[in-house]
Amino acid sequence: MQPTYPPETEQYREKINAFLDEHLPSSWQGIGALEDAQRARFQGEWREILRDNKLLAPNWPAEYGGGGLTHLEQVVLNEEFAKRGVPTSGSNDGFSIGMVGNTILAWGSEEQKQHFIPRILSGEDVWCQGYSEPNAGSDLANLGCKAELDGDQWIVNGQKIWTSSGQTANMIFVLARTDPDVPKHKGISFLLMSVDQPGVEMRPITNIARHDHFNEVFFTDATCPKDNVLGGLNNGWAVGNTLLGYERGVGATTTALSFGAEYELFVDMARKHGKLGDPLVRQDIARFYTTVQIMKYRGMQALTRFLAGQQPGPESSIGKLFWSHHHHRITEAAMNMMGADAMVGLGEETRSGIGAPAIGIENTPANWMSSFLVARPGTIYAGTSEVQRNIIGERVLGLPKEPRADGGSWKESQAAYKS
Ligand SMILES: Cc1cc2nc3c(=O)[nH]c(=O)nc-3n(C[C@H](O)[C@H](O)[C@H](O)COP(=O)(O)OP(=O)(O)OC[C@H]3O[C@@H](n4cnc5c(N)ncnc54)[C@H](O)[C@@H]3O)c2cc1C
Repeated sequence: MQPTYPPETEQYREKINAFLDEHLPSSWQGIGALEDAQRARFQGEWREILRDNKLLAPNWPAEYGGGGLTHLEQVVLNEEFAKRGVPTSGSNDGFSIGMVGNTILAWGSEEQKQHFIPRILSGEDVWCQGYSEPNAGSDLANLGCKAELDGDQWIVNGQKIWTSSGQTANMIFVLARTDPDVPKHKGISFLLMSVDQPGVEMRPITNIARHDHFNEVFFTDATCPKDNVLGGLNNGWAVGNTLLGYERGVGATTTALSFGAEYELFVDMARKHGKLGDPLVRQDIARFYTTVQIMKYRGMQALTRFLAGQQPGPESSIGKLFWSHHHHRITEAAMNMMGADAMVGLGEETRSGIGAPAIGIENTPANWMSSFLVARPGTIYAGTSEVQRNIIGERVLGLPKEPRADGGSWKESQAAYKS
């Protein structure tokens, strides 16, 4: 089964390809083929080209500086960019545009939209995500970072952790406790805060792949303007979940393209190692081929929902669960297949948004080693696999809810944990 697109959409595909031909270097082989320094420079320059051509936020309405594209045009744009290994945005834009920008458009007052949206597009505001805390990861509603109103400012105290790309951000969206005396989901607000202030300290954490884009964030009497609450006071749980839908739905329609390209690298590596005749490797190849095909059909399913104007909801957990476990399996299989060749240092860090290697990357054991490590946290971030399964069970399939041990207000539940 192949989806067919209406003729006017195919015309748009030609237009996008003409745009790429015009603006990409003639020697272009994909972002993965660039050296680190070239890549960083290209990404900055490319973001400006996208912005100037209204393609940086293609789904946003034209009145807010977006492309105002139809749903199908957005899909075609993503497909053509993914095929050529071209980024659709700049480095923190997953947070700035994909998450908080979309959420501001969904929940923000007109004043908030007019203030924040242009600053996101211009790059003046670069965002990171302040959700997780040492005692609030899967049980996010347990968060204790508190905000108290003092005149026309919120005074924020507490800690966040695992804040990705925090060191390149000047803004952070924070889920904060604004009422400890009500049940825990009901006393949270979604704050839009500056990072560049004395009360905010960002401390980097280095991970196993030697990346240091994780951070701990400490708030000590940090301030946030009273009006920077998104979606209303104590309504942060609903607003925060809207954002998670965008986060988990990332790339639903292009996942098969990214992992399809990685599958081709796997087959190529098997060939290089003389393993195409090995029955176990052949089984892996068949399994991964099938998985990528399933991703393709799931992409079409997501597309159908998207075309019906539906925002990503709890169903996005299915795709997230599926691709993250596939990535574990294919990278593990690659390490096993390469044997001693896999015992090398790390390779290129360049990745697509979901961790698949960037198009154009050299097919080396070191790059597979990096992929192997990068795949590990895929089953943790944006909600662990166990949490995704709970969401699918409870909110997609309508199964009975997990028993909750903690009733009453957030304050009472903290006291119960301590006793
Ligand atoms: C690469 C990466 C980037 C991240 N970036 C960010 C970021 O930018 N901003 C941010 O705020 N956070 C970020 N996170 C944090 C991420 O959201 C959390 O790690 C995640 O939600 C899990 O929380 P936790 O680490 O506290 O684990 P815990 O919640 O303590 O979970 C520990 C284990 O218990 C299991 N478990 C927990 N509850 C249940 C349940 N009800 N049923 C069954 N099993 C359960 C979990 O599945 C897990 O296996 C990032 C994490 C990673 C790995």
